[in-house]
Amino acid sequence: MAERRVKVTSRLGLHARAAANLVRVASQFKSSLTLQRLDGSAEADAKSILSILTLAASRGTDLRISASGDDEQDALDAVVGLFSRDFDEFEKADGRQISRAINELRCKGLGVSEGVVIGRVLRLQEGTREVYRAEIGEAELERERRRFRAAVRLSRRQLEAIKDRAERELGRGHAYIFDAHLLFLQDAKLTRDVEDYIDRERCNAEWAAKVVGDRLLSIYTQINDDYLRERGSDIEDVIQRLLANLTGEGPKYPNLLEDAVIVSTDLLPSTVAELNLDHVKAIATDAGGWTSHMAIIARGLGLTAVVGLRDFYHRTRTGDRILVDARRGEVILHPASETVEQYQFTTGSIGPTVAPPDVVECGPVTTVDGVEMSLRANVELPTEFRAVHDFGACGVGLFRSEFLLSRPGLMSSEQQQYEAYKSLAEAAGEYGAIVRLFDVGGEVGSEVKERERNPALGLRAVRFNLRHKQIMRTQVRAILRAAAAGKLSLVIPMVADVADVRMSKRVIDEEIENLAAENVPFSAVQIGAMIEIPSAVLTAEKIASEVDFFELGTNDLVQYTLAVDRGNDKVSEWFRTLHPAVLYGIDRTLRAAREADIPVIVCGEMASTPAYAVLLAGMGTIDLSMIPAMIPRVRAVLTQIDTNEAREIATKCLAAGTAEEVEELVRNEFKARWPELFPPHALPKAPE
Ligand code: PEP
Ligand code: MG
Repeated sequence: MAERRVKVTSRLGLHARAAANLVRVASQFKSSLTLQRLDGSAEADAKSILSILTLAASRGTDLRISASGDDEQDALDAVVGLFSRDFDEFEKADGRQISRAINELRCKGLGVSEGVVIGRVLRLQEGTREVYRAEIGEAELERERRRFRAAVRLSRRQLEAIKDRAERELGRGHAYIFDAHLLFLQDAKLTRDVEDYIDRERCNAEWAAKVVGDRLLSIYTQINDDYLRERGSDIEDVIQRLLANLTGEGPKYPNLLEDAVIVSTDLLPSTVAELNLDHVKAIATDAGGWTSHMAIIARGLGLTAVVGLRDFYHRTRTGDRILVDARRGEVILHPASETVEQYQFTTGSIGPTVAPPDVVECGPVTTVDGVEMSLRANVELPTEFRAVHDFGACGVGLFRSEFLLSRPGLMSSEQQQYEAYKSLAEAAGEYGAIVRLFDVGGEVGSEVKERERNPALGLRAVRFNLRHKQIMRTQVRAILRAAAAGKLSLVIPMVADVADVRMSKRVIDEEIENLAAENVPFSAVQIGAMIEIPSAVLTAEKIASEVDFFELGTNDLVQYTLAVDRGNDKVSEWFRTLHPAVLYGIDRTLRAAREADIPVIVCGEMASTPAYAVLLAGMGTIDLSMIPAMIPRVRAVLTQIDTNEAREIATKCLAAGTAEEVEELVRNEFKARWPELFPPHALPKAPE
C-alpha cells in the first residue's frame, strides 16, 4: 500500500467538477484509491463521485490518499499531481468567464447602508439540518464513537475561538454565552449518553447526537422557569454545531477566508453580532426593510447591505462571486469582469465608504438663522462606542440595550449590565447617554420558541418588561448604579399611554428605595417615554406631564400609524416616512412637548436622512439622534439651511393629502432652495 498526505488548495474545494476530474484520473488505474480526511470524519472511494462529495473537503482540508494494488505508485502519483494542479480547473478560465458573463444575475432590493462590495457568497440559513439514521456494524461502533469525540473536540476549538473574538469585538456581554456552550460540550453526560446510544442502537453518531439532543431539549421545554427554559436554545445551538462538524458541513459560522458576503433569507441581529466582522463585508437578505433591526445594525457596523431581495438566497451557492451595491439597492451574482471594471471606473473604488472624517466637528450645530441643534448617536453594540467620539456626536441619544443580549430571551446579569452601561456613559462623555429599557419581543424576539401570532402587536417592549418584572428590575438597578459613575438617562419603549409610564415609574421608584436600603451607590436618572405608537401621540399631553423628555421613534411611528410591518419587504412600498399622517403625529408630539416644556429627541431612521432632518428642523426639532456615521453629513446640511425656510416647506407638507404629494413638494422645494445641498439622489425618488 502507498500513502501520501495532501491539502485541498483550490478555491472552491473538492466540489463537483473537481471531483469528476478526480474520478476520471483515478479510474485509469487498477489499484483501489481511498481518500480520508485527516480529521478522521470521513473516508471516500476516489473512483465514486458521490463518495468523494461526502467528504465535503473544502479549501484547506487535509486528506490522506491511499492506493493499493499492482500500479499503486503510479496511481498515487497521478492523483497527487491532480491535487497539486488544483484539479486542472484553471485552464478553463477563459471559457468560464464567457459563461459567467452570460449567467450574470442582477436582483433589485433595498440598499440600507453605504458602499459597493465585491466578495464571495457565504450562505447562512437559520434553522436546523436534516439527520438520517444509518445501521452500523459491530466493527464500526468504535469508529462512530471516535467520530463523535472528534466532533466534540472540534466544536470546542471553534467555540473557544468564537468566544475570544466575541470578547474582543463585542464585549463580555456577548462572550459569556459561549462559556455556557462550552460547559454543555464538556458535560460528561452528553458524551456518555451519545456513546451509549450508538452502542445500544447500533447507529451512526449523527443520529445518536440528534436523539440525545432532542431528549435533552424536551426536558428543558418542560421546565417551569423562563430563564432555565431558554437554556434549551443553547443546547440546540450546541447540538447543531456538533451535527455540522459530524456531517462535515462545517460550523454554522465558518472561519471565513476572504471577503464574505452573507446571503440569507433573513438574519437575526444576534447572528450578525456573532459573525467575524473582520471578514464579513456585506449582507444580502431576501426579507427586511430600511428600519428592520438587521438593517440598523448593518449600518451601525458600516456593513454594506441590501435587503428585500425576495427569492435571491435560493439562486446562490457558497463561494459564488457577488457584487453588492447598496447605493443602487442591487446585487449582481457572478459579475462579469467588465461589470466589475465598470464599477471601479465609475465609483473610483469599491468598498464601504463609512469612515470617520479626518477633522471631527463636535458639539451642537448652528443653522444659518442661529438655531442650535444637538446631533446625538444611536448605538446598539459596544463595538460602536468609539464611533460616538469619532463622528463628533453630542453623546448617545439612544442605546438599544436589548442588543446586549446575545440571544433573545437570555438575559445578562445585573453586574454585566452595570459594566456595559458604565462604559457607555464613559464613551458618551459630558452629554451623557440615554439607555432604552429592553425593547424585546416583536422582531427582536423572533427566535423565541413560542412565536406570537402578531409579534409587533404582542408582548413587546414596555409590555414585556411589565410582564417580566424581575428582568426589568435587574436592568433598572444596573442603570441606576451606573448613573453614579456617569451621565445616564432612561427611556421607556413603546408606551401606549400614561398608564404604561406610571407602572414603569413605580418599578423604578421601588428599585431606588431598594438600592438606598441596601446602601448600594446609585444616582437617580431622568426618565423619558418613547413616542412611537399612535395612542401615545394622541395622548402626548398627558404623557408629557409625567416624564422628563420624549424620544420620537419614527421607525415604529410609521409602522404603527400606517399599519405597515417595517420588516416585511412585500409591503415596503407602503412604508412612507413622509406620509401626512406620520407628519401630523410628529407635529402633534412636538407641540405637546413644547407646551409641557420638555425636550424631544427624534431618534428613528428619519433623523439620519439629511433631507428629512431639514424637514424635522422645519417642524421645530432641535435634537436628533442617528447612526454615528451620518452625523457629519447631517451636520454639513444643517449648517447651510435657514429653519424659517424649512418651516415654510414643513407647513406646506402638513397640508398635503398623500405621501406622493409630500414627496413631490420636498423634491421641488429643496431643489429650488438648496440645489447644491440636495442633488436628486439625496431626495425622495420620483415615481418611475
Ligand atoms: C424607532 O422605532 O424609531 C426607534 C428608534 O426604535 P427601534 O428602531 O429600535 O424600534
Ligand atoms: Mg421603536
